[in-house]
Amino acid sequence: MTLPSTTEMYRALVERDGSFEGLFYACVKTTGIFCRPTCHARKPKPENVEFAPTVQEALHRGYRPCQVCEPMAAGPSAPNWLAPLVDEIRRHPDLKLRDHDLRARGLDPVQVRRTFKRSFGMTFQAYQRAVRLGTAMKALHGGAPTLDAGMDAGFESDSGFRDAFARVFGDAPGRARGTALLTATWIETPLGPMLAIAGDGGLELLEFVDRRGLETELRELGRTLKGAIVPGEHAILTKTADQLREYFAGARRTFDIPLKLQGSAFQLAAWRALCEIPYGETRSYSDMARRVGSANAVRAIGRVNGQNRIAVVVPCHRVIRADGSLCGYGGGKWRKQWLLDHERAGGVRLG
Ligand SMILES: [Zn+2]
Repeated sequence: MTLPSTTEMYRALVERDGSFEGLFYACVKTTGIFCRPTCHARKPKPENVEFAPTVQEALHRGYRPCQVCEPMAAGPSAPNWLAPLVDEIRRHPDLKLRDHDLRARGLDPVQVRRTFKRSFGMTFQAYQRAVRLGTAMKALHGGAPTLDAGMDAGFESDSGFRDAFARVFGDAPGRARGTALLTATWIETPLGPMLAIAGDGGLELLEFVDRRGLETELRELGRTLKGAIVPGEHAILTKTADQLREYFAGARRTFDIPLKLQGSAFQLAAWRALCEIPYGETRSYSDMARRVGSANAVRAIGRVNGQNRIAVVVPCHRVIRADGSLCGYGGGKWRKQWLLDHERAGGVRLG
């Protein structure tokens, strides 16, 4: 995730410096596309460009690959079925292609998976998810009003955007507008973008946008709410963004944000116990099980930790195995490691 300095990347972009190829992608805010550093298209002004370390992250931020430099092209050795398949996914981001759908198109699922992994460095599933979330989250990134954002961002049809948004959030933004129960926004962090959702009752969700299972969480949230989550501003979201910035800068150790935790009595007890683990410390699953009063609930504790929807702030990353090794983390083990290292160093970045 570490990128060269913005000045350096902008220079490389303007000079089409080939040595930066693969190190970053330039995302152009005005056109909604992302490019390789060496792209021959006209270069954006510095204020209109943001940089992403990977293709996946550019997609998650809602950008489409440039047709001039083709940052996602698989190269001359790509099989000729790849381009039409990629096109289809991009045109219909709400489509979920499974093995039988691929076979119906005369494609071998095993070969498809292998080719995606080799060409794009991500699985076929991750690619589809990235396109789907990217399409829907485009509206959140920058906090533009939903419908206009869908159109301004250059989606071929407004309905494609609506469909993707509905698939992820459970309702079309136009219909939800005015009856908003929850507000969603996008928060950039050194570990990648996070999706934050809050209502007047408190923060409901805070997750890294590439988290596996995020769509399921959102659908569940949408179902509980009967589906009204809209992009926008909310005092609790502003507070969350401010406090996260301070946390990542090493200037904050505890959070002071109203949380809306919803779950069974056991889940609530387990999540509250997580909030009591001090910054810079860790606990084992059995510590946590004892803490919520049932020493043999170790397995259940693991599951409930995984169901925590408020990453970082409800610090499920502070629970590790009894032998000190890390185990699963919804946002990926590397993030868990990063957070623990960050806190152990007292928030001081050691390079
Ligand atoms: Zn380009």
